[in-house]
Amino acid sequence: MEKIKFATVWLAGCSGCHMSFLDMDEWLIDLAQYVDVVYSPVGCDLKEYPDNVDVCLVEGAVANQENLELLEEVRAKTKLLISFGDCAVTANVPAMRNMLGTAEAVLKRGYLELGDCNQQLPYAPGIVPELLDRVTPIHELVKVDIFMPGCPPSADRIKATIEPLLNGEQPKMEGREMIKFG
Ligand code: SF4
Repeated sequence: MEKIKFATVWLAGCSGCHMSFLDMDEWLIDLAQYVDVVYSPVGCDLKEYPDNVDVCLVEGAVANQENLELLEEVRAKTKLLISFGDCAVTANVPAMRNMLGTAEAVLKRGYLELGDCNQQLPYAPGIVPELLDRVTPIHELVKVDIFMPGCPPSADRIKATIEPLLNGEQPKMEGREMIKFG
């Protein structure tokens, strides 16, 4: 049996969705029989997103240039992209800074107005990713195939989404157990 090339990606999120993924506990051992994890912040140390990924869970919103570039690469190289958790689906907590307006206003608020000492704006091109003016959910930027809300989605919901895919079936994303936010 050819294994499914499986990836997970962490954009602007708290990693709580990935923690919930790990909460699938012993089912992860079953999952390992069906998938090769080819890219992920958990259990995989590859730095480059590979070609021809079958399924990818994307946690987090898009808040900076690095997030945007990785998301576009993921979309180009992935057959089935799952928007994983409320930050990916709605932008959620990371988007709270949108009320301040531009990236410059956010940086000034955080590093100058609220700084206790050595107030200065972070500026390290190529090292510190440039903030985008607005934090956005991923479907505003790329095509999403499956939406899996939740903050975080429960381990049961994650399993119920992934398990049908292993058999070539689509998960039924309906009802309170599968599409409740928060
Ligand atoms: S949806 Fe919730 S748990 Fe997931 S990354 Fe966002 S804040 Fe964290």
